[in-house]
Amino acid sequence: MDGMTIGEFARVSGLSPKALRLYDDLGLLPPARVDASSGYRFYTTDQLEHARLVSWLRRLGMPLARIRDVCAMDRPRAARAVREFWARTESDHAVRRGLALFLTDHLQGEADGPRSRLALRGAALGDRGRVRAEHQDAVLANGRTLAAADGFGPRGAGAAAAALAVLDRLDLRGLPTEAVSAALFEAADDARTAVHRAAGDADGAAESGTTLTALCWTGSRLATLHIGDGRAYLLRDGRLSRLTEDHTLVRSMVEDGRLTPEEAAVHPQRSLLIRALADGDAPPASHPDTRLRHVRAGDRYLVCTDGLSAVAPEADVRHVLATTAAPADAVRELVRLAHAFGAPDNVGCAVADVVEGEATGVDENAGPVAQGAAPSARCRRNDAPTI
Ligand code: MN
Repeated sequence: MDGMTIGEFARVSGLSPKALRLYDDLGLLPPARVDASSGYRFYTTDQLEHARLVSWLRRLGMPLARIRDVCAMDRPRAARAVREFWARTESDHAVRRGLALFLTDHLQGEADGPRSRLALRGAALGDRGRVRAEHQDAVLANGRTLAAADGFGPRGAGAAAAALAVLDRLDLRGLPTEAVSAALFEAADDARTAVHRAAGDADGAAESGTTLTALCWTGSRLATLHIGDGRAYLLRDGRLSRLTEDHTLVRSMVEDGRLTPEEAAVHPQRSLLIRALADGDAPPASHPDTRLRHVRAGDRYLVCTDGLSAVAPEADVRHVLATTAAPADAVRELVRLAHAFGAPDNVGCAVADVVEGEATGVDENAGPVAQGAAPSARCRRNDAPTI
């Protein structure tokens, strides 16, 4: 029986002799023949495909035990196993990426003073717009959280409301910074469960879900929780900056160089989401971006759905934020702005100012303004905002 030596087989398979010896020991890729007297290993060309698969899976970072399972599978099952492994890997990566960013935020900038005297004062407003039959956006401004959710699918309104009901209960104040990130992930998880529960077994439940973009007050900083294509903005010193990245297919295509930003803006599938809180979606599809921001007195924050950001030019949004007095005026003007551009979609926006306030950093007197965040009794839909 002829055969390649371990050195020859290593060369053609892309695996090192050391790796081949290890895979033999593990039963992952035994040689075709072992010379009884010399102990030399010999491999055949029939084993090349198997060896290349092992090499490929190793380069993917798959653990050896899992590789053994995958090699024993038929091709369709192996394909599914690789897909599942990669989804999990990306999810882990996304979580770690988020933690790394969050830690960077935590370590950067000045340490929190012992008595922060800043507070958040906000208002929120949702509007059906001029074209859509149903209002599926929900917004929230409750004195510590600013949020907007854009429901989609037949059960979209319920999904958006359910997600915001979870955010309405979220209270990060007094948590050590190290615990804030975990609390945000937990809130995203709870929101996903709530969306699932809201969808129930109804028709269209599987196609229903919501985006969720929120800024949450920790008592001294603002934490971002973001899934989907809602947006958060900061107006500081007259300049508007965007705090979130859209989780849309077109944005990932722009990143890959397959679309220009100009093409993306008019792409027919520009609102196709790659991340959302949807029934049955597991991470990474529902994985949130989380950040932690230092705030300054005088900052004005906006959280909105694409019914505003995809419709009105950023310069106009900036103008409204810079020229209106109270957050309640700002949200009213922003809805008016969307109408001036035809309001083809539901509109949801929430605005808050960072003001000098109580030592607790919370202005309970600002009063809750929440729309669509049922079933909480103080939540209303389509009401005029109050301060
Ligand atoms: Mn929308």
